[in-house]
Parts: sequence; structure tokens; C-alpha cells
Amino acid sequence: MTIELAPLPAPVETARPRPRIFSGIQPSGAPHIGNDLGAIRNYVRLQAEYEAIYCIVDYHALTSVHDPDRLRRQTREMASALLALGLDPERCTLFVQSHRPEVTELAWLLATVTPVSWLERTPTYKEKKLNQPEDINHGLLTYPVLQAADIVIYKASLVPVGRDQAAHLELSREIVRAFNGRYGDTFPEPQAVFTEAPVVLGTDGVKKMSKSLGNAIDIFAEPEVIRKQVMSMVTDTRRILRTDPGRPEVCNVCQLHRFFGTDYEQIWEGERTARTGCVDTKRLLAERIIEHYAPARERYRELIAQPGQVDRVLAQGAERIRPIAEATMTEVREKMGLR
Ligand code: ADP
Repeated sequence: MTIELAPLPAPVETARPRPRIFSGIQPSGAPHIGNDLGAIRNYVRLQAEYEAIYCIVDYHALTSVHDPDRLRRQTREMASALLALGLDPERCTLFVQSHRPEVTELAWLLATVTPVSWLERTPTYKEKKLNQPEDINHGLLTYPVLQAADIVIYKASLVPVGRDQAAHLELSREIVRAFNGRYGDTFPEPQAVFTEAPVVLGTDGVKKMSKSLGNAIDIFAEPEVIRKQVMSMVTDTRRILRTDPGRPEVCNVCQLHRFFGTDYEQIWEGERTARTGCVDTKRLLAERIIEHYAPARERYRELIAQPGQVDRVLAQGAERIRPIAEATMTEVREKMGLR
């Protein structure tokens, strides 16, 4: 399967052989197709051209996951999933956020240049407050500061993320500007790199696909589960009868066909002219998703059965980037008057 990806910004000429990129992903267990279409495809593509650092953000996850065994299990599952989907530890660095704890010190230092009002207006903070009203912890508010620290501690200039993260990345850039403005040029302003995919909607057809909202299509679930998830998708709500013409431009199932096959225009036409029904279109989508991820699903199962191997990759990753994190912290402490 081929999909067209957005052109990358031209690599900036630097003394380093390859510009550095960074991205973080939550340890939410195995990913859903929104993660893959929005971000992971770019992780895999970019590791060839850039010095790529990818992080499983377990500190971030603590803002909503409070069961230690679950956090550990899901961290390993996400690591296995990323490796199964094509991250190659020879070509990129994959590590767990808490294995390089220097980032929490940097988050504190960046917090001192970040006005509270910037954090309060973040859309995800407002959303999370609604989603977990019983647990509006301080981490939820300062999440974007830690996210900025994640990126800048490695002085990454490019950040492959889904379009849902655009506002967070803008905030990271503002934090960098605030820091550089106060203490002198220290960090590059990170720039987002998006795939062609929009924010992928969940099976409800309204909200962004997200594990916590229960509207996700899981990449590595059993085929039966994937079929069930796809068959539950909300299509064009105005199409009541099988003979009603559909509106593929608002139908989430048709939208997803763009990324799983090369004939989406025919599929759209079928729906527009009522030649095909929503159920047919969903069945086809489910089979294509299952088939597309079958080889990665196999690799995922193998990796889950070898946790020692995955743990080694993560430990080596954290060790490999230690010098970068330490050098940045020395520089930052110096500039801020801590030494
Ligand atoms: P968060 O929950 O904070 O968005 P995740 O760890 O769930 O972070 O997401 C990992 C990556 O997948 C991020 O780059 C995010 O932008 C992307 N992503 C997550 N959900 C979607 C979606 N529904 N559509 C597109 N990209 C997504």
C-alpha cells in the first residue's frame, strides 16, 4: 500500500550529519489506526533520513493511569508495537521517558518561563478536565511544559506528530521563544511534521480516535475484534435507506478507505450513487485493515513473547542519548545561574 505523504521541510544544513527529530507517544498499550495514520508512519519514514529519537512517555501517562502494573505492561506493549510497525533500533533511538529523568528537571526550569495563562487555554487541558473531572491533577495543566522539555532536551528541530497535536507544538515553540528571550539562544524552535492524514475520527464519527474515549480501531486486536469495531462505525447519518445516495466526504468509513487501498475513488462513487451500501463498505474496510497489519501483528506477537529483548532495546536507547541530555542540562543550568 502506498500513501502520499506531505513533503518534508528541507533538512537544515548543520554541523551534525543529520538533523535531529523527536516524538513522544503515550504508553496506551498497542496503538490504534489514528496513531499509525497520524504519526507512526512518519516515525518509520523519517528514521532513514534524520537522527530520530522516539520516546514512550510514561511520565505523561501518570496524569491519567494510576495502576503501576498496567503502566509497565502498556509501556512494553507500545514499545513492541512500534518495533513491529517498523522502528529499527539500528537506525533510531527508542526509549522510555522516565529512563532519562533529567527531563523532569528541565520541565521545572521551563515552567518558570511559562505563564499559567498559556497552559490554561490549551484545548487538551480543557478536554481532559471534562473527561476526568474527579482527577484534575497538576500534571494535566503542566503537561505541555514537560512535552516541550521532551523535545528541547535533545535540541530536536522537527517533531512528527498527528494534527491533533498542532496546538501543543505551537505552545512548545512559544516556551522556547520565552526561554531563548530570557537566557539567550539555547534551543531551536521545533517544527511539526504531519502526515497526509487529518485528525482521524473514531468509530463514533465525531470525536478524534482515542483509546480513552473507547472509539478506537485497534491495530493488533484479533481480526474478530477489528471487524466488530469497524462494523460499529457511524457512517453518513443522513443516509437512512440502502437506496439513499451517500456523502462520502462526510462518511468516516469512506475517509479511511483513502489509506487502505488504491481504489477509494471508486468506493466513494459507489456510495455517492448508492451502488454500494454502508455495510459493504465497512466489511471491505475491516478486511483491508486486518490484511494490512497482518505481518506487523505477527511480529508484535513475537516481540510480546520476548520481553527481555524489548527491554534491552529500551535500555540501550536511554543510554545512547544520555550524553545529549546531560550536555543540555549543563548548558541550561549554567545559563540560568544554577552553577
Ligand atoms: P495524545 O493522546 O496525547 O494525543 P498519543 O500518545 O495518544 O498522544 O498519540 C501519539 C501520536 O498519535 C501523536 O503524535 C498524536 O498526534 C497521534 N494521534 C493520536 N490520535 C490521533 C488521531 N485520532 N488522529 C491522528 N493522529 C493521532
